Amino acid sequence: MTKIFLHKGKEISFLRFHPWIFSGAIKVIEGVVAEGDLVEIFTADKKFVGIGHYQQGSISIRILSFEQEIIDAAFWKNKIQKAFNYRHFLRLTTNPETNVYRLVFAEGDGLPGLIIDYYNHHIVIQCHGIGMHKSIMQITQALKEVYGNSIETIYDKSKETLPKNYAATVENKFILGNTGNTIVKEYGHQFYIDWEKGQKTGFFIDQRENRKLLSHYSKDKKILNTFCYTGGFSVYAGAAGASLIHSVDSSAPAMEMTEKNMQLNKLTNYENFCQDTFDFLEDKKYEYDVIILDPPAFAKNRDAKHNAVNGYKNLNAAALKQIKSGGILFTFSCSGVIDKNLFFNTINAAAFESKRKTKILHYLQQPPDHPLTPNFPEGEYLKGLVLYVE
Ligand code: SAH
Repeated sequence: MTKIFLHKGKEISFLRFHPWIFSGAIKVIEGVVAEGDLVEIFTADKKFVGIGHYQQGSISIRILSFEQEIIDAAFWKNKIQKAFNYRHFLRLTTNPETNVYRLVFAEGDGLPGLIIDYYNHHIVIQCHGIGMHKSIMQITQALKEVYGNSIETIYDKSKETLPKNYAATVENKFILGNTGNTIVKEYGHQFYIDWEKGQKTGFFIDQRENRKLLSHYSKDKKILNTFCYTGGFSVYAGAAGASLIHSVDSSAPAMEMTEKNMQLNKLTNYENFCQDTFDFLEDKKYEYDVIILDPPAFAKNRDAKHNAVNGYKNLNAAALKQIKSGGILFTFSCSGVIDKNLFFNTINAAAFESKRKTKILHYLQQPPDHPLTPNFPEGEYLKGLVLYVE
């Protein structure tokens, strides 16, 4: 295995088990290394740090293990089993009311660059790193061992998330079975999931607990669910007795999925709008008791941060203006580069701009099957606030 030596002092973060090595930390690469190769990492004075996947870019190595061990079938089985056991602990693996969960959340499960979602006996793998993608058959084998015969489908959906040059050499494909969609249950609500055609792995599992919280505030209320995708929040609101639900998304396939899901859950008092949320709010046709704002990441990198903050402020100010007195705003950001404080300050600024007085009812975050770990604060990406609007 190729050995990589770090500059003096660069091992500090690994003493706290941070799993990334930036290109600037590398002093010497001993031998030849190709994209996705396993490499052994050492400090400047030749002390072992860990084993990781090498990839060109600002993050050059993603660490898989801080122990001197062999990365073989037993390694992968152990990692997947551990991830499974944790979801079992969370009561997600044997729950008749919820059969959709995230099995592997990258760094949060000690597997940087790997996402695995479970949809009622179907599994979707999404690799963000070349090394992970090159290990996909070993990962698949581990999944088969952990789940036994109960898995019908394993689908590799990594083309959109791998670095461009490498992605050009791969296709999304079935590794097991050939089913492209299914129906899952989340807290008893049913959802069509289409991992072949849908966004990401097919469903935004990360909003499960926040959708459940919305149920609590929905009875007899007029609800606006913007950036609705498959209509997750809309279904929960409808099932909890909302008097009217407006769902908005600019994507036509997303609105088709929302329509399907509202019907699947036998809901009737709703209207769907395939429209840009900013335009929809601009029209100012309605007033709502509850508005949900769950936009895509406005900032994917630091350069886009300033514009993103402005985007969140304008969006939230526009929404706050359309909430009835005594109403509620559910607002989210899934941009990793916008931290909690910045997001909360931005929402404060939006409240000032819209001249609305608010009270914080809840601070929200990603659920525990998207684990946050102290060694990797960057893993905290989903932030939310529920505001009472006076
Ligand atoms: N709330 C959803 C997930 C939202 S994902 C859930 O619980 O599942 C973000 C969604 O925003 C995507 O479906 C995307 O199509 C939509 N979108 C992106 N830009 C938009 C815009 N300007 N107006 C409306 N929808 C938009």
